[in-house]
Amino acid sequence: MKKIGIIGGGQLARMMILAGTPLGLSFVVLDPSADACAMKLCDNIVAKYDDLDALKALSAQVDIITFDFENVPAGTLEQLDAIIYPPICALATAQDRILEKSLFQGLNIPTPAFAAIESLDDLEAAFVRIGFPAILKTRCLGYDGKGQARITDAKEGPAAFAALGGKGLILEECIDFTFEVSMIAARNQNGETVYYPLIKNKHQQGVLHLAEAPFQDDALFNEAKVYMNALLNKLDYIGVLTIEFFVKDAQLIVNEIAPRVHNSGHLTIEAAITSQFENHLRAILNWPLGATKMLKPAAMLNFIGEMPEETPYLSINDSHYHDYGKEPRIGRKVGHCTILADDLDALALKTPIFFKV
Ligand code: ATP
Ligand code: MG
Repeated sequence: MKKIGIIGGGQLARMMILAGTPLGLSFVVLDPSADACAMKLCDNIVAKYDDLDALKALSAQVDIITFDFENVPAGTLEQLDAIIYPPICALATAQDRILEKSLFQGLNIPTPAFAAIESLDDLEAAFVRIGFPAILKTRCLGYDGKGQARITDAKEGPAAFAALGGKGLILEECIDFTFEVSMIAARNQNGETVYYPLIKNKHQQGVLHLAEAPFQDDALFNEAKVYMNALLNKLDYIGVLTIEFFVKDAQLIVNEIAPRVHNSGHLTIEAAITSQFENHLRAILNWPLGATKMLKPAAMLNFIGEMPEETPYLSINDSHYHDYGKEPRIGRKVGHCTILADDLDALALKTPIFFKV
């Protein structure tokens, strides 16, 4: 029986555990918070992510280490004598928006124009090159749209620069996209690779709100696959990798990658033959990967802040209500609901419940 260590005990770890338990896997979670929602399901270690002794204790107990979010310090993981997948270099790249976008450029993958910002002079120069609107972001530690400011005029620059800490920033061209999609793929050590259909994503205030799949567009799917393969190869990748794209003029522009399972892929739990969580575990264990075909079209709504009353959601035919068991908090992802339907038209008729309840 294989034992998996997961650094980070949020809902992604929780859903990994729920997917891996029927496969006979057991889990140990490390998280700084004693009430992290995955901890209720398995053994755990409460420790900071840079606590080397605690990480060593984790690696002594498990066969493989993985993580459920990308801000685990890569430098600390490098000091561990453990098998860690996805590879630490992928984690380190995804942690820093400049490294990440430079990687895309090096692979000829379209990405918004950007500039590293360490001073107000850098910002002035970048405004001239990139123009407006632009988005100033922290290079590291951003999630759910946090650490970002949209700038429409040079006058707004100094205040945004100061509010975001005055160093370690990136200015990005603001893409006037038509919509956003993501691609999730999994690769094991044998090089076997599987790709989920494109997922169409809507954000509210920088946080994923609604995901729908399959988004059927063969040209975009094939283009996404080319970029995915380039990244998987370059990063010697093992595990699930997600790419977030903007779609503009029927072309893909890469926003960012996530070296992990992804919120937009929650709908694969019920709608695909094999979920992203199971395929991540199979990939890191070098087991054969499962089919990614979707059994039915699906839509997923995130519950942000607090859980809604369950009855309206549970009353819908073929709906799947997930409560992560978290305390309510403004802006926090506390659960989601996935609805399936026989075809996209039927799905469109069912999803208004998401906006009425
Ligand atoms: P998450 O962890 O939710 O993916 P994040 O904090 O890493 O979020 P981003 O993915 O960079 O942040 O941005 C969140 C959302 O903000 C994007 O999905 C998109 O809707 C919008 N956004 C970010 N950067 C740009 C950009 N350059 N042009 C247009 N929209 C953008
Ligand atoms: Mg994002």
